[in-house]
Amino acid sequence: MYVDVHSHLTHDDFAADLPDVIARAEKSGLTAIVVNGLEPASNQRILELAAQYPVIKPALGIYPIDAVNDIVDNLPFPIRKFHVPDAIAGIRREVAAGRAFAIGECGLDGYWVGEETFAAQEKVFEELIGIALEFDKPLIIHTRKREERAMQILAAHGVKRVDFHCYGGKSKLALRAAEQHGWYFSIPANARNNESFRKLLKELPQDLVLTETDCPYLAPVRGERNEPANVVGTVKLMAELRNWSEDQAREQIWTNYKRLFQVGSDPDGEAKA
Ligand SMILES: [Zn+2]
Repeated sequence: MYVDVHSHLTHDDFAADLPDVIARAEKSGLTAIVVNGLEPASNQRILELAAQYPVIKPALGIYPIDAVNDIVDNLPFPIRKFHVPDAIAGIRREVAAGRAFAIGECGLDGYWVGEETFAAQEKVFEELIGIALEFDKPLIIHTRKREERAMQILAAHGVKRVDFHCYGGKSKLALRAAEQHGWYFSIPANARNNESFRKLLKELPQDLVLTETDCPYLAPVRGERNEPANVVGTVKLMAELRNWSEDQAREQIWTNYKRLFQVGSDPDGEAKA
C-alpha cells in the first residue's frame, strides 16, 4: 500500500483526465491520496471528490499566500480574493461535522511575499492550528524561508501531529525537529534529483518519513505533470538509500501514515474516530 499525503488534484491540469489519474494511482497500489486545499473553492471541491472517490482523503486549509489575499498584489500568479475569517469558519464547520481528514495546507511563506504579510499569515496559521488541536487532526505544513518560525509556533502550541510537506529548509533543522518533536516530513517524488530530499529520506528517523507528490508540481522529470502514482519511485529510492527491500520501505511509510493520520488497518483507510 502506497500513500500520497500531499496532492492538488483540484488543479486545472487534472480537469481533463482526473478519473484516469486516480485509476493509475490505484493500479500502482495507492490506497490513500490526501488532497490539500488552498482556499474555499478548492476546499469545497476536495470534499466533493472525497465523496466520489474513497481513495481521496480531504485536507482543508488556507495556503499562506491566499491567507493574505486581501493585502498582497503584484504576485507573478493569479490569486483569488476571499474573506479569510469566513474561510476559517467554513473549515471549522466541516471539521466539526467530521468531514475533514486533516488540516492543510497551511503555514508560512517568506518566498513570494514579504515581511509586511508575516503577522497576518501567522494569525491565520494559528487559527488553523487551533482547529487542528480542538478536533485532534493532523496539520500539513507549507513553509518556505520561514521554517524556523513555523516550528517555533508549532512548538509553542505543543502540536504533535504535524507533517512538513516538501521541506526546503536546512536539513539539520528538520532532523532536530523530528528528534525533538516527533514531527513527520513528507518527501516529494522529485527526490532523486534533490540532494536535500535524499538526505532527509536517508537520515530522518524511519518512523517519521512519508511520501507525497505536491502534484501537479515537482514531477520526477522536470517540466512534466506530476501525479500520485509517482510516490512509488520515492519508496524505491528510500529502499536504495537505506539498503532496505522495497517492501520494507513501503510498509514503513504505510505504518507511518496510519500512525500520523490515525487510520485503521482496513485497506480503505477510514478514520477510526
Ligand atoms: Zn501544496
